[in-house]
Amino acid sequence: MIVACLDLEGVLIPEVWIGLAETTGIPELRRTTREEPDYDKLMRERMVLLDKHKLGLKDIQAVIDTLDPLDGALEFLNRLRETYQVVILSDTYYEFAEPFMRKLGWPTIFCHRLECDANGRLVDYKLRMKDHKKAGVAAFRALNFKTIATGDSYNDTAMLGEADYGILFRAPDKVIAEFPQFPVTRTYDALFDTFEHARRSIGG
Ligand SMILES: [Mg+2]
Repeated sequence: MIVACLDLEGVLIPEVWIGLAETTGIPELRRTTREEPDYDKLMRERMVLLDKHKLGLKDIQAVIDTLDPLDGALEFLNRLRETYQVVILSDTYYEFAEPFMRKLGWPTIFCHRLECDANGRLVDYKLRMKDHKKAGVAAFRALNFKTIATGDSYNDTAMLGEADYGILFRAPDKVIAEFPQFPVTRTYDALFDTFEHARRSIGG
């Protein structure tokens, strides 16, 4: 049996912070680790911004609930689940992922947690562990599962390298150029076909 390890944002759903920025009309929320490489500083700034605009967790979840998974994502996921044990390994937060998980039929997801105060204000975030995507794949392999992983960005490349087979999906050109060892796919049909090719080549 093969465990399919999927990144979430960019593979099954749009980027949550960009969706939040567009839907709330708060352009500063578009900032990512590309503009602010210090993740902790970026998260603190995001929490200050949300607070300034009086957006608590319930409001944010209501905004996220208006966003949909990417076109074809649910069909792809259901098709994949017929053959593979699918686990989503994401650097998002359970509280943000929940509206999407409902729309995707509650797949298994390992990610991080946000902390709120009694009034629902976001006050902190808790990363479950550092580099958990790579550690997750390594743990499945230690359980004698073969693994195929897919993701779209830099924070997926360690996971793709750890897996028996790694596949990039709709990755930016920079990532593709830096990691030529991973095949690149752009459609769900191509991604599914590459999973099947990988399954035959690693034997599972
Ligand atoms: Mg991603």
